[in-house]
Amino acid sequence: MIIETIEDSPASPQTGQAYLCLHGHFYQPPRENPFTGIVPVEPDATPYANFNEKITEECYRPNADAGNFAFISYDLGPTLAAWLEGAHPEVYRKIIAADSEHRQRYGVGNALAQAYNHTILPLANSRDKNTQILWGLQDFRHRYGYDARGMWLAETAVDLESLDLLAQHGVIYTVLAPWQAATPVDPTEPYIVRLFGGRSITVFFYNAPLSGGVSFDWNTTSNADLFATSYLPGQLVTSKREAGEAQLLIIATDGELYGHHKPWRDKFMSHLIQAGAPAYGFEVCTLERYLRMYPATKEVELRVPSAWSCGHGVARWDSGCECTEGDSSWKGELRRAFKKLAGRGDQLFEQYAGEVLIDPWAARNAYLELRNGWVMPESFWAQYGKENRLVEQPGVAERTRLLLEAQYYHQYSFTSCGFFFENLDRIEPRNDIAFARRAISLTWQALGIDLQRDFLADLARIECWRTGLTGFDLYRQLPVVQEGLLPPLAQE
Ligand SMILES: [Zn+2]
Repeated sequence: MIIETIEDSPASPQTGQAYLCLHGHFYQPPRENPFTGIVPVEPDATPYANFNEKITEECYRPNADAGNFAFISYDLGPTLAAWLEGAHPEVYRKIIAADSEHRQRYGVGNALAQAYNHTILPLANSRDKNTQILWGLQDFRHRYGYDARGMWLAETAVDLESLDLLAQHGVIYTVLAPWQAATPVDPTEPYIVRLFGGRSITVFFYNAPLSGGVSFDWNTTSNADLFATSYLPGQLVTSKREAGEAQLLIIATDGELYGHHKPWRDKFMSHLIQAGAPAYGFEVCTLERYLRMYPATKEVELRVPSAWSCGHGVARWDSGCECTEGDSSWKGELRRAFKKLAGRGDQLFEQYAGEVLIDPWAARNAYLELRNGWVMPESFWAQYGKENRLVEQPGVAERTRLLLEAQYYHQYSFTSCGFFFENLDRIEPRNDIAFARRAISLTWQALGIDLQRDFLADLARIECWRTGLTGFDLYRQLPVVQEGLLPPLAQE
């Protein structure tokens, strides 16, 4: 068991103590064919069937087996968690159990929730931001059995409205890059960000040199003892040390680099958190635990919108920017196509689901309960439906469920991975287009209304600068689906 290897930490904080927190953002873009729920074979992942399997064996499983999740701060993206739960329940259970062990030991958890679809929240409309956050929190509550206190934002992309929604829903902290602060910050302590209506949230800023070194430099992580003696001490604030003040070094990265992007770094992590760091005077700590000992006292304003992997606001996922090679103007066009499609879907949802639902958007916010079988359908319809309309009219509940499911896949189409890289002609944009097609299909099945025609006209205008393929080509190359599930394609 993991818990036996954890060294007891003092019940009360130590004066002048140096703390170390590793945060792993564990997430993979959803790869499932949305019509079948099956992840297709990916030849590049050989000898594994696909990258989910490969990354599980290289990263999730070894880190879970080593007990690393009990020592670190982590978030496991909801769409990845759902796949892992089904495909490798033993790995999944260890990751979830690490949080409850941490809670038993320290009274607070070490897992953070994640906004549901890895959406760049500043680019979403207010209603979608709210849904993303609520779904992320509901998913967390279902998996971990209590309400999340921290939330990881996709790409640490942030604006004040998103943070304010987090605060409204009970989230007390998140993690950002230091350059997302409007003024220089000391990243060895958390800060308070003032929001609207008297609300506030605590922000931890990660240590950029350490996080960058762990992510991008091979030599930094070749030896955990050397890392603890050579890299960590230089990042401490000397004046704090001398004044006997506590301080925290946070290394926040994608979790997959520990074993997948960087082979054997799961072992680096194990040794660092279980032996190396403590041996050289660093107490390994997690974020809410640190907050309980040392609440934030200083305030900071943020640069908004901003994110951790783009220096141009959030342009990397919007209009495009020089962070990616080549002509990135396809990003803006693709986003406009998805927004237009989702906007039309929203109108239809409001019109048709609104006939039978008291508040269609409240029902959407609660839809995971119905979709995942957390409630009986009858009680969902009783809570969100108007009087008896859903039971009186045959087929109406089914039509409404299809429209809710279409909303679910419109949300998927904004998965940020589709906009992250330089090319339109890649698996990630293809997947986002596949999710949009699923939403089109569901709307077609529910209402017989064709959203495909206009969407394809928009896709036809978007071209990949590298391969010359258009979005329309990518759509046509998606796996064939059963006849009748999609509107007929117009013959040219
Ligand atoms: Zn950029």
